[in-house]
Parts: sequence; structure tokens; C-alpha cells
Amino acid sequence: MRTAFTYAVPEGFRAQVQPGSRVVVPFRKKSLVGVVVEMTAAAPEGTKIREIQKVLDLVPALTPRLLELGQWIASYYLAPIGEVFRAMLPPVTEIVLKRQIVLTEAGKALAEKLKDGSALTDLAVVEAEFLRRVLEKKGELALGTGSKLGISPEALQRLQRRGYLEIRETMQGRKRKTQHVIAWKGKEAAVKKRGEKEERIRALLETERGPLPMPQLLKLAQVSRALVERMLRDGLLDSWEEPIDPVEDPFDTGYTPPGHTLNETQESAFNAIRTRFELGEFGVQLLHGVTGSGKTEVYLRSVQDTLARGKTAIILVPEIALTLWIGRQCRAWFGARFEGVAVLHSALSDVERAQEWWRVRNGAARVVVGTRSAIFAPVENLGLVIVDEEQENSYKQEETPRYHGRDVAIMRAKLENAVALLGSATPSLETYHHAVNGKYELLTMGSRVENRNLAAVEVVDLREDFQQTHQSSPISQTLHAGIMECLSFHTQALVLINRRGYSWSVLCRSCGASVQCVNCSISMTYHKSRNRLECHYCGSIQAVPKVCPKCESKYVYFFGEGSEHLEERLRKEFPGARIARLDRDTARTKQQYQETLGAFASGALDILVGTQMLAKGHDFQRVTLVGVVSADSSLSMPDFRAAELTFQLLTQVAGRAGRGELPGRVLIQTYYPEHYAVQDAVRQDYLSFYEREVHFRRMMMYPPFTSLANVIVRDVNPENAIRWSRRLSEYFAPQDGKGVKILGPAAAPLARLKKEHRYQFLLKSPKKSVLTKILSGALAFCHAKEIPQTAVLVDMDPLTLL
Ligand code: ADP
Ligand code: ZN
Ligand code: ZN
Repeated sequence: MRTAFTYAVPEGFRAQVQPGSRVVVPFRKKSLVGVVVEMTAAAPEGTKIREIQKVLDLVPALTPRLLELGQWIASYYLAPIGEVFRAMLPPVTEIVLKRQIVLTEAGKALAEKLKDGSALTDLAVVEAEFLRRVLEKKGELALGTGSKLGISPEALQRLQRRGYLEIRETMQGRKRKTQHVIAWKGKEAAVKKRGEKEERIRALLETERGPLPMPQLLKLAQVSRALVERMLRDGLLDSWEEPIDPVEDPFDTGYTPPGHTLNETQESAFNAIRTRFELGEFGVQLLHGVTGSGKTEVYLRSVQDTLARGKTAIILVPEIALTLWIGRQCRAWFGARFEGVAVLHSALSDVERAQEWWRVRNGAARVVVGTRSAIFAPVENLGLVIVDEEQENSYKQEETPRYHGRDVAIMRAKLENAVALLGSATPSLETYHHAVNGKYELLTMGSRVENRNLAAVEVVDLREDFQQTHQSSPISQTLHAGIMECLSFHTQALVLINRRGYSWSVLCRSCGASVQCVNCSISMTYHKSRNRLECHYCGSIQAVPKVCPKCESKYVYFFGEGSEHLEERLRKEFPGARIARLDRDTARTKQQYQETLGAFASGALDILVGTQMLAKGHDFQRVTLVGVVSADSSLSMPDFRAAELTFQLLTQVAGRAGRGELPGRVLIQTYYPEHYAVQDAVRQDYLSFYEREVHFRRMMMYPPFTSLANVIVRDVNPENAIRWSRRLSEYFAPQDGKGVKILGPAAAPLARLKKEHRYQFLLKSPKKSVLTKILSGALAFCHAKEIPQTAVLVDMDPLTLL
């Protein structure tokens, strides 16, 4: 659905339907939820117009700015507008809508005067009467009762327009999760003689903690459920059901933020941000601060300043775990003083997400912390958007609409006249390029807080290691010695590897074939504990072959270490050490993830081994050694961002060491110690890396010097994929050279993925508008030539060309 459709608004809905409202409309034989984009006076000619069936929102779900933003996304990323709105809206859940009429301050004042007869007003008698009645009901009234009080929807609208009242919507899930809360009943119960356990319960519930949820009480008091139940029956305790706050996080209680006084570097960054606010206009700032320079503190102050100016703020973070951490800090900072903080991410249930979304829409939360899609949070009066770790790939949505959260954030700030603050220790090439050219304002924090040293980074040349030991182990002699040192000083080590599984390839020594996925052109990964081969792209599974599937030779061998292998190795080499692994296999749920991280943070573990999950954000104080087992696998990727990704990863990892009082050491194992991505990461010299990489990009005509679009034509039937891509090239070929360079069609680097055969066009142009024009032409062409919509995938500003 690339276009919008026209519907008639029945008389009874006129007052409610506005641009941004969600409505239920008939579409073919179904009813669908749609968004009102525009009101038109007349219907397009010659079409039969059907009627809207239902209006879901009294307050339009999308604000005018969000509608604009959605339209921009649809045209920039060539995505169907319907899909864009779906990504922006809260999930439609089985919900109960509670609508309330609430008097505004002006409405209250007027109603007071009407009561004592001192008001002069041009309101109709019923309207004035109505205001008085609402005032009597403490200024709030369920909307349903409005009509009983004899007020028409039109009159309500009028009062609303004149600012006397508001209609607020709160959403409640049909079934809210509740918990059993236990409380001490008080004096009359105290006469009974109590045992030691009962006394402990009393102390907890009466003096130490107050009413507690059952599981927490059992844990804290170390008593059995039977005892609590008996005390309930005896009337010593009271209990009730209480809704569970959906975004409550278990570590939240009693957390007070450090609230440091800003140091000089932070102060001057913050001042620059404040100065920008004072201009009161759109602007983009890049906060380039080395790891551990205290960017979070600067973010929080900026949000504080934004709130003090009566505006709202959105903070985007690259992963769910960080929403919890930053959300907790925000609640501690702003939760009490300002009305609230909302947290939005994809791991919330639909009902939870809808609740949080409407809390924001109703103005109950003025700070939003979330992942990518939180950029669509319906705050009004937006003053500041922060994008933390702006270079992270997780900001890019890899399904329709294929938008980049950071770029949408900048566009949103522009539409709302707000400030966009991008933060990073290793900014993306594009962003830094804009900062160097003055398009963005550059703020630099070059030192760590309290002048802590950056960790010392050393390269371990695996070629040398091999020459000395004549065996290839994922753990070099240097790394082994380093870990030994950690163990003897009782500090902690992080060991990083960028693949999960046991071995990432199964090869035949006889014929050289590797075992490939049946659906993808990718080799299968061996998982030892599950004793099978898995494809990390489509999830398909195969038995572990005893003989080569091609030539039946017995000489199959497993090649390339993954995290599972590394963990096994570490356990063998350091038998007494407490070791855990963190990757997508061991941390399947948020809880498992938090448990492992929690155990490490509390010192219950000596060594934590894992994938890049470990590289980001976490602030471990006792880590003195970080080992990167193989820095090369990301370098050898056939992708123009390979060097950038490697540099970012290594620098981020290095930032995990030496964050506390203890100095840190980082060991990077590699076969290419001379590569500039490794060299510059070792020196933690972003500028040097930027200069070299930008030179390469300029030579090769890659972003930021040109805009890219990737077009994939795909189908399970290889003939279709070939036929359609040939046809599409009839459209592309004549355009080549006219302000755009078009390569292809060629088999995509990932020629087969999830059973589909893939052919690729690559478009390069110094002018984005040229790309947009050609691509929308291409989509129209496909439509005319009956190439199915799902077969053509357009990726504007692709992160990878695989
Ligand atoms: P970054 O995000 O830049 O890597 P963080 O914001 O995580 O750095 O800050 C690193 C550590 O420094 C945190 O533990 C934080 O509490 C602490 N910190 C921040 N600002 C100050 C300050 N002004 N003085 C002392 N410690 C600070
Ligand atoms: Zn073979
Ligand atoms: Zn596969």
C-alpha cells in the first residue's frame, strides 16, 4: 500500500476526526485501522467512497509534527506510508479506553466565577452549566457521562477549542498483571505472642520496608509461604492485589544517582549545549567524548535544562539493557520533580508499550528513554533529542520501513525546532564529517573523568605467537599470562570474541567443501553443547556430519573458534577460575542477561567471555584486563565499513577496562597488526583513523562523499529473481551516468538468504534527491511491469552491502 485512500466521514464523527486520528475503515472485505492523513473538501472523482466505521482516538494519536515526520520517512526511505505509520503507532491491543473530561486552569477559574455568579461570559447556558457541573465533580468527569449531562459533542469541542477543558485518554489493558502485597495489620493484632519469624516479618513490614509483594517478603524474611498465609488467616497481616508497574525494574529501589559536579570539560560541553538551547532553534551537536569521559552526566544535565525550560526530551540508546540503566538514572533525577519518565522498547508487551505510549501522549511523561522506535514517542514541545552511541548499527531498522533512527532523530528535531545531540566515543564517519565541515557543532571531551588514564592497549601478533608455540590456540601466551595476573590480584577479565557457537565452519580436508546452509549461501556454525549445526541467518539446523556430505571422506574438521569453544578453552587453562559466557545462546532472556551481568558486576565471577554484547556501555569497576581474541574477522568482511566497524569495536572494548580506580590493560590479538584500524585503535586515536578512512572513502566514492542505495531483487525461484532483475535493469540502464552511477544487476554477496535468490543493484550519487527520484521511478516501473512489491527491496543509506 504505497498511497493513501479517501473515506467519507459520517456526520456523527465530524467533531472527532482530525489528521493524526486512528480510525477503523472498511478495506476490501476487512476492517483495518488507518490514520487520517489529511482532510479534503471533495472526494476524488469517479471513485466510490466508503465511510469510516469508528474513531479510535479523541486526541489524535499522531501529532501534526509526527504526521509530517512519517511522510518524510515514507518519501526518503521509499517505504509505504501505511507501514511507516504502523511503525510509529502504539500496538493496537485489546484495550479499554478510559476517556476523561478534565477542566484546564482557565476552565476552573471560569467555573469558579460562574458558581458565585461573578462571571461575564458569552458561553451558551448549557455550556456554562456544564463547566460548573464538572467543577463540582472535582474537575474530572468520565466522558460517557458527558452526554448524560446534556452536552453535545459539538459543544464539548467548542469548550475544548477555547481552552476550558481537555479530553484525556488513558488506556488500560483488559487484564492488568497484579501482585499480592502483604502489610502488617497494626496494633490490635500486636497483642498475640509472636515467635522469632513472626517478629522478623513484623519488623520488615511495619518499620523497615513497609508493605511488600509476597515473593519479596518471603525472600527478605527467609520464611515459608505457609507461615505468611497462617498469619493472614490469624488476622496479623493484611493483603491486597496491586497492579505491577510494567516498567518497574527490580534494581530500582533505593537507587540514588551519583550527581557529580561537572568537571571542567563536562562543564564546557554542557555550556555549549545550553547556549544552543538559548538560540531556540534547530541544531545538531556532536558530543565526541572518549569512553569514560562522563557523557551520561552531560546528557542528564541537558535533559534537566530542557525540562526547566518547559520542554520535553527523548533519549535514544542502542540497546534494551541500556534503556533500563539510563531509565533508572532518569527516574532518580526527574521522576519526582517532573511528572515522569517513560521507557519504550521492543521487549515490552503490547499492552505495556501501549500504556507507556499513551502516558507520553497524554503528557504524563516528559522524558522518554528508549531504543530506535522511541524516536516516534508522541511528546509535544520537544526540546532535545539525544542519540547515545550514534554510530551503532542497531539504530538502523533492517525491515520496512528501513529507516535509521539517528537520521530520523535529526529530522524530527528539525521539524520540531529542537536540538539533536549525538554522542559517541567513535562517531560514524558521516557524522564526524558533518562536524568537521561545520554542519554540526563539535563538542569534544578528550579526557576521562578524574583524569583516569585510558587503558594501555597492546597488540599481540598471532603470527609470532604461532612461531613460538607451534599451536594455534585462541588464547595467546600473552593473554594467558595476563589472565593469570588478574586471577592472582583478584581483579576481573573480559574476553571478547565476535562469533558465537563452537566453530563457525565445518570443512572437508579431502575436497575442501564446507557445509553450507540449505537455505542460505552461508556456512553452518557448529554448536557443541547442542550437538548440531545451525545457520545464524535463517536458524535452520543440521546434524553434525560424520563424513563429508560431498565426497564422503571421513576427514571433516571444525574450523574457526566461537565463544563456546573459547569458554571451554578458558575452563581448561584456568581450572579454578569462576567463568561465565554471555552471548545470544546463554542470554536468551533479559533475565538471564541481567543475572550474568549482575554476577560479574558483584564480583561473583573472575572471567566473563562473550560476544560484542560485552563491548557496550557497561561500567564495570574491577575489570583490569580486556582480551580481544580475534580482531581480524570483522576486518576481512567484504564491506566498505569493515575498517570502521573494527575500529569502533576495538575502541569500545578498550573503553571497558580501567573504569574504576584500577588501571586497565587491553590485549588485541590479530594476524594483521599493521592495519590502520588496529593501529589507531591501539593508540585510541580517533582523528588519525578518521583522516585515513575518509581518504579511502573519498577515493572509492563511498559515503559520506556519495549517497548510496542498495536495491535487491529476490525470490525463492531463481528464474524469477533473474528475470525481474533483468527487467528492472531496462529501467536503470538508461539512467546510468546521468548524475548517478548504477552497478548491477549482479548476484548479491549473500546470493541466497532464507531460501531466496538475490540480485543486487547499487546506486551511487553525490545528490540524494537524484537517488530518491530514480528509486521512486523504479518502484512505479516495477508496479507497471507487475514485478511483485515484496520482491524488490530498497535500502536507502545501507549500512552493509551484503
Ligand atoms: P561515558 O559514557 O563517556 O563512557 P560515563 O558517563 O559512563 O562515561 O561516566 C563514567 C563514570 O564517571 C561513571 O561512573 C560516572 O558516574 C562517573 N562520572 C561522571 N562525571 C563525573 C564527574 N564529574 N566526577 C567524577 N565522576 C564522574
Ligand atoms: Zn569432502
Ligand atoms: Zn540459513
